[in-house]
Amino acid sequence: MQHIRHLIFILGDHLNESISSLDGFDPQQDHVFMAEVMGESNKVWSHKARIVYFLSAMRHFHQILLQKKYPITYYPLDGQSSYTTFTDALTVFLSEFQVEKVIVTEPGEYAVKEELIDLCHLKGVELELRTDSLFLSTVDDFSKFAQGKKQLRMEYFYRDMRKKYTVLMDENNQPEGGQWNYDKENQGSFGKKGPPAIPDWPAFKPDALTQEVMRLVEKHFPNHPGSLEHFVWPVTPVDAQKMAEHFIQYRLPYFGQYQDAMWSHEPFLFHSGLSAALNLKLLNPTWLIQEAEKAYHLGQAPLAAVEGFVRQILGWREFIRGMYWTFMPDYLEWNALDANQPLPELFWNGQTQMNCLQQTVGQTLEYGYAHHIQRLMVTGLFSLLLGIEPKAIHQWYLAIYIDAIEWVELPNILGMSQYVDGGKLASKPYIATGKYIDRMSNYCKSCQFNPAHSTEADACPFTTFYWDFLIRHEDMLKSNPRMSLQVRNIGKKSEETLRAIQDKAAQYRTQLRENAL
Ligand code: FAD
Ligand code: SF4
Repeated sequence: MQHIRHLIFILGDHLNESISSLDGFDPQQDHVFMAEVMGESNKVWSHKARIVYFLSAMRHFHQILLQKKYPITYYPLDGQSSYTTFTDALTVFLSEFQVEKVIVTEPGEYAVKEELIDLCHLKGVELELRTDSLFLSTVDDFSKFAQGKKQLRMEYFYRDMRKKYTVLMDENNQPEGGQWNYDKENQGSFGKKGPPAIPDWPAFKPDALTQEVMRLVEKHFPNHPGSLEHFVWPVTPVDAQKMAEHFIQYRLPYFGQYQDAMWSHEPFLFHSGLSAALNLKLLNPTWLIQEAEKAYHLGQAPLAAVEGFVRQILGWREFIRGMYWTFMPDYLEWNALDANQPLPELFWNGQTQMNCLQQTVGQTLEYGYAHHIQRLMVTGLFSLLLGIEPKAIHQWYLAIYIDAIEWVELPNILGMSQYVDGGKLASKPYIATGKYIDRMSNYCKSCQFNPAHSTEADACPFTTFYWDFLIRHEDMLKSNPRMSLQVRNIGKKSEETLRAIQDKAAQYRTQLRENAL
């Protein structure tokens, strides 16, 4: 039996040669192991583009390691043996080789971490879980930040991170421009005129390796949702860097101003599309932040745009990860609003008369992508107002976006969007009527519903469900000072109107169950 000192097990979201598990690698004694497993695509009903993204990026990384002469074993999905889980694949490997120690950079999913710990324990092999150095903060850093705090708010975490990494700080160690946050300037809409000229998307044509993976996915996962017709994503570090440079040059200057805006048939607008590359570690977030900051200092992008972008990566992204590891596995079980509605079929096929949902789900099926406000204030808002059962909506988000990994998807949907944690992440539920969507997009202009109506025949379902939500949760929301204004508005409506809203909401719920809304 061949003896291996360290087996470096590289997971599909650790595709970077500077990943911590490779520190101290000795090709004479150590070995790399990677495996494509069915379960990663099947445990949620993954979008075809999400499966292609992971498999293609893994295969490209495998090529890089081969070229650099790393001793490596790679189990492809289409090979003689396809495994269901990482631990199945690792079990087989461990039975064939004598391994002293397994080294893994900490996984992005709680269950995978637990499975690895259990497996190594069972096999009597030492396991070393190393900190993921491709995040700026560690899980321990976050625990220290969280200690003793009743409420965890991103803003304070973000300020600490700015100071710690001296990002956008002036020579007196004060925030550049005198303000920490330019969020107010990040909420522009396109008004009636529509967006300014949107730069071309730097689409990456699938190479031979990606095309092979696309064929494999069509063969093994033919009934999975989504299309591969518009697979426009970078799957190598070189292409991810090109995409980042393109973003910084052409889109970043508008990013801040139009961060929250939406427009029909424009899936990307001024967003970066870099989340999947970041999450699979094709890109180093520190480099990206430095490049954005450089653009500001060179006068190529305004402060509000650069700060807005940096806040997403240095602030939100790191904060969300800390929340995940702090509150898992409990997060999966919480349901503060007792939401219990089934996930409507329209989430899987985009077939609905509600134009905002048709646009958002439609582009999601086409590209595996929707930007933040579409995720939060269209699909997320609808789920919250309707009261979709948390696990069902969590599984949809995990399945459908190419950038979805549980550490980032779960707190965003369950905490920020669905308020299942009763306020640990967000200070109040993000609720709004259809008028918000009308203000931030042109969706309502081509919709048969009227965002100002809540009970009429053409009542916007968002607006109806908004009032229905307030009525259903009035007692709980009353105790939240940030909700008092919205809750007080219920008192201004007559009993008759309130009853009409609830009747309309019941009618819409029935229509949703019958796929007729
Ligand atoms: P940009 O708008 O260009 O933003 C720049 C980068 O900032 C992103 O690439 C991302 O890395 C980071 N970022 C921005 N907001 C967040 C955030 N709230 N949390 C973490 N990182 C952030 N992001 C994922 O990467 N995977 C997910 O599965 C995911 N699910 C989400 C679910 C919901 C309900 C919501 C509201 C947000 C979710 N996000 C998720 C965060 C965010 O919507 C996406 O990162 C972003 O839309 C990706 O597009 P982009 O790269 O063009 O982002
Ligand atoms: Fe969506 Fe309502 Fe606007 Fe139609 S009217 S697009 S359903 S918000």
